[in-house]
Amino acid sequence: MPTYKAPLEDMRFVLHELYDSKTITELPGCEEFTPELMDSVLEEAAKFTQEVLFPLNQIGDLEGCTYENGVVRTPTGFKAAYKDFCEGGWTAIVSSPEYGGQGMPVAPAMLVEEMLCSANVAFGLYPGLTHGAYLSLYHHGSEEQKQTYLPNMVSGKWSGTMCLTEPHCGTDLGMLRTKAVPNADGSYSITGNKIFISAGEHDLTENIIHLVLARLPDAPQGVKGISLFVVPKFIVKDDGSVGQRNGVLCTSIEHKMGIKASATCALAFDEAKGWLVGEANKGLRAMFTMMNTERLSVGIQGLGVAEVAYQNAVNYARERIQGRSLSGVKNPEKPADPIMVHPDVRRMLLTMRAYIEGCRALSGWVAREIDVLHRSTDEDAKLIADDFTALLTPVVKAMFTDLGFEISSSALQCYGGHGYIRDHGMEQYVRDARISMIYEGANGVQALDLVGRKLPQDGGRLLTRFLDPVLEFIDANSDAEMAPFIEPLQTALEHLQIATGYIMEAGMSNYDEIGAASVDYLRLFGLVALGFMWARMAKIALPKAEGSAFYTAKIGTAKFYMQRLLPQTGALLAAVQSGSETMMEFAAEAF
Ligand SMILES: Cc1cc2nc3c(=O)[nH]c(=O)nc-3n(C[C@H](O)[C@H](O)[C@H](O)COP(=O)(O)OP(=O)(O)OC[C@H]3O[C@@H](n4cnc5c(N)ncnc54)[C@H](O)[C@@H]3O)c2cc1C
Repeated sequence: MPTYKAPLEDMRFVLHELYDSKTITELPGCEEFTPELMDSVLEEAAKFTQEVLFPLNQIGDLEGCTYENGVVRTPTGFKAAYKDFCEGGWTAIVSSPEYGGQGMPVAPAMLVEEMLCSANVAFGLYPGLTHGAYLSLYHHGSEEQKQTYLPNMVSGKWSGTMCLTEPHCGTDLGMLRTKAVPNADGSYSITGNKIFISAGEHDLTENIIHLVLARLPDAPQGVKGISLFVVPKFIVKDDGSVGQRNGVLCTSIEHKMGIKASATCALAFDEAKGWLVGEANKGLRAMFTMMNTERLSVGIQGLGVAEVAYQNAVNYARERIQGRSLSGVKNPEKPADPIMVHPDVRRMLLTMRAYIEGCRALSGWVAREIDVLHRSTDEDAKLIADDFTALLTPVVKAMFTDLGFEISSSALQCYGGHGYIRDHGMEQYVRDARISMIYEGANGVQALDLVGRKLPQDGGRLLTRFLDPVLEFIDANSDAEMAPFIEPLQTALEHLQIATGYIMEAGMSNYDEIGAASVDYLRLFGLVALGFMWARMAKIALPKAEGSAFYTAKIGTAKFYMQRLLPQTGALLAAVQSGSETMMEFAAEAF
């Protein structure tokens, strides 16, 4: 049986030491969220996720959701856990106090989200999608819509969905066909078929508030003709209670590789009553409010699953005895040494650890900038934060989820054959991690977003929001003690700058160059970002290392990252510079 213990020590390090949580408390509206309060929230979240959600993770995988005549049931224990989750106020932590939320800053809340994903990623999708739907309504809904839906979504009494995908269109939403026909009373009749809708139907909440992309009769072709509608499963009466059933039906649920406790539904809308959210034909923009948040959340899914898989791999590597250490017996009283003694097992464990802690640090930076963006009164700081989060969103989504899958696979590898069989729970992590590379925009599409949209945006201004602090840090830390961290970072940064220049130039005459380079470029960018994180963490840890296992391990992991992982940027640069020719000139019929 796997185990999970929230990595509170590292989370506190990120929150308080790397990003000085007091600066978050100083933001308008965050005054009551003192560092002490943030710590107690993290402790409570650790208890809840470890004791309530984690024990349901394997049950959820074994049982999955069931479907019968339009009714979907979640696995044993999910309903009770969801009730506890709502009663504990966890659905409301970052939502606005105006609608019953707690208004917590994102920096500590993102760490809570990581715990949720480690403990039970399938469970986390239900409140996660509700929060995304909440955000779309909060930012784009009318006052009446907000009053009608948000308080019950914040309390968790009602849940939310995002209904984009149709059988013939996933990435290319410009092709979507669901229709919205205006009614005399100001509502719309929505008709069409959506597939793969997470939490589209289930037994956890009294009502489900679908946010649906559809086309008005006179809408222009393509993405410019898409509008957003709110379509409740049960129409809400004037007194706020649930009324008659709307024309939306779950026709089936998918049988899938992982996240089996999350209901993935086919939904048929048959003249369902819906109401326009925001402006007509501007639905994709409104939905993107939700999708950008969701993209970061999906990145955190990768990190969360990686963390729990790593913890179990470490435990197993300590206990499993097999073979002898190459440098001499370490455990003479036993017939073999623990597999932890083998360099290759250590390589796997340190690779996982270096990526996980690096990603946690990077997510802390993004979370902090989101707080600045939403709360600061300093317009310059807000602009920087806006640019930075826009630039980093595809990196967090794609790199964290690629790594989530790679790490859970390496963790399984540490178990050998015992990882491949079901009992130890490791194969579930590999299966659960896989979807995060696909939904919320496949990772290849994230890379295109980074290279094709974010890099050239505003004359390259967004990239400077990342480069400037890195260059400043390098300049300020040229001493011998920091050299083992600064020198590799500087080399990797040069690789990133050369790759950027190459793509910007080559992409001007041939757009395929952008597509061909994008995935390698995103990884290169992400590795440099983690390199910066590790250099910063080393700087904090160096003066505190003596006598401290935590800070000593930080420095050891930082060195491993700099020497063993960051040099991949050289190979990625070479791949980027090789251009698009080898792939685009290869005859399609030869595949
Ligand atoms: C378990 C699960 C849950 C989901 N939940 C939801 C949900 O709640 N709501 C919702 O609306 N949808 C949901 N989805 C749908 C998901 O977002 C889509 O599957 C995803 O966006 C990809 O669309 P597609 O499957 O149609 O693949 P396609 O669009 O057919 O793409 C196939 C592959 O082609 C490549 N590709 C496509 N276009 C491009 C391009 N322009 N450039 C480069 N490469 C490209 C990508 O590698 C992609 O992986 C879910 C899917 C699953 C499996």
